[in-house]
Amino acid sequence: MARKMIWIESERFWGWGCSDCAWVFILAGQPKANTLEEMLQDYEDQRDNEFKAHVCAKHPKANKT
Ligand SMILES: [Zn+2]
Repeated sequence: MARKMIWIESERFWGWGCSDCAWVFILAGQPKANTLEEMLQDYEDQRDNEFKAHVCAKHPKANKT
């Protein structure tokens, strides 16, 4: 099964995460963009790159709750 990027909404976090592990995307620093369009593009680029780069084994899902 291939991992997927999924939208997560919970009390503590909302944003993009991985369907297979506990990885979530957190924007690092301020986007260096002048327009909203550039900002969105920057956000999507960072998000996609980090999603591709993360290793599921390093972000194990917490099984307790
Ligand atoms: Zn993952």
